[in-house]
Amino acid sequence: KKNDVKGFFIRNAFVILTIAAVIIGIILGFALRPYKMSYRDMKFFSFPGELLMRMLQMLVLPLLVSSLITGMAALDSRASGKMGMRAVIYYTTTTVIAVFIGIVMVLIIHPGKGSKAEFSKKPPIEQVSAADAFLDLIRNMFPPNLVEACTKQFKTQYGKRIVHVTVTVNDSIFTLNGSQQIAQEEMIPMPGSVNGINALGLVVFSMCFGLIIGKMKEQGQPLRDFFDSLNEAIMRLVAIIMWYAPVGILFLIAGKIVEMEDISAMGGQLGMYTVTVISGLLIHAILVLPTLYFIITRKNPFGFIAGLLQALITALGTSSSSATLPITFKCLEENNKVDKRVTRFVLPVGATINMDGTALYEALAAIFIAQVNDYSLNFGQILTISITATAASIGAAGIPQAGLVTMMIVLTSVGLPTDDISLIIAVDWFLDRLRTTTNVLGDSIGAGIVEHLSRHELQKKDPEVGNSVVVE
Ligand code: ASP
Repeated sequence: KKNDVKGFFIRNAFVILTIAAVIIGIILGFALRPYKMSYRDMKFFSFPGELLMRMLQMLVLPLLVSSLITGMAALDSRASGKMGMRAVIYYTTTTVIAVFIGIVMVLIIHPGKGSKAEFSKKPPIEQVSAADAFLDLIRNMFPPNLVEACTKQFKTQYGKRIVHVTVTVNDSIFTLNGSQQIAQEEMIPMPGSVNGINALGLVVFSMCFGLIIGKMKEQGQPLRDFFDSLNEAIMRLVAIIMWYAPVGILFLIAGKIVEMEDISAMGGQLGMYTVTVISGLLIHAILVLPTLYFIITRKNPFGFIAGLLQALITALGTSSSSATLPITFKCLEENNKVDKRVTRFVLPVGATINMDGTALYEALAAIFIAQVNDYSLNFGQILTISITATAASIGAAGIPQAGLVTMMIVLTSVGLPTDDISLIIAVDWFLDRLRTTTNVLGDSIGAGIVEHLSRHELQKKDPEVGNSVVVE
């Protein structure tokens, strides 16, 4: 009996530590709030959390590239084509459902009732045309310089136009003067870019490259071995970082609670808006996705989700589905035993383009802004919002608050004022965490579903690649 309990703790050490970190982080954050820390102190306090973000981001580039290349190379083109089709159908279906839930929720609850005067206005945000944004999305798929794609964002029209948005940045403490919090102009993330890397471009390149290597037979072997072993090495690094993750998450959460704006600002329309977004996300994450998983695989969705807990909490802590990617890999492959050939293929693409939470949120927020402005939308406009919200979620990078930026596309598409994004900035840091968690859940359940649907192809092919444990 005693050994059972001990065994349980050892097996679930990571999850238990991570949950404990969240709880301690919340308590510590609220306990320290009354002390009104200076900006400099806050930087010191958030330092352990900042380190976790940096460690995870450090692994994203090699992980993304090596997993996609080996994932594609391990499958023959028919199998990968089929699997790709299934993944695309899953991404599209779930995103459309998410957008639909967002729209229905905001229309029913109508959080924007009341006058706009309740909000304090912030500086205007520049207009971006939807067409430019679309072109940039496609441009980013084909980086002209691969090295540059790994090191910095593309400078395209869209990027240049919005450099003037003012945001608060986590700058190094040494560049700060005094102890005030400063807002600084910063380059806003490009669609499809992850913290300075052009993820979308790298995804497209790696997939094509992997496919070609897969076709090369003998000649491709050295490259296959190289990326396979690179992938393995990176995953071992992830295992080390996982030990540090609870510490980082604790400080990320505590730090955010200490620095968040006064909660009294949450009353009225903004409060209702927050409730609407949360309800929408919950319906999608707790009802829709698990049901879909159950209908298709006939397996217990909550057992599957339990295996993902650490990834979900990391998403909550980091606000970034890309930074969470390494942990998502670990959870799916080790706890849920999803075939590596599936995760390698489905997860990096999912983390880059499949964002259910973001899509739901963008459609909902755009209609909320219309409601606040007393602007009634006709059916055509609501349809436009759903299409652009889907595109905007594909274009959003998996980094904190990227969805807020790509929302400009949605707003301009129906002639709503992009300045009004400032109305919802106050609560976005919080909603961002929840939609990121939904995004990661969507990607992971997608991996589970695609694995189930592809079980026949997986049984046939290449037993030496991946852990060919095939379910059923
Ligand atoms: N932070 C989200 C993510 O990383 C993107 C968003 O802002 O909606 O998935």
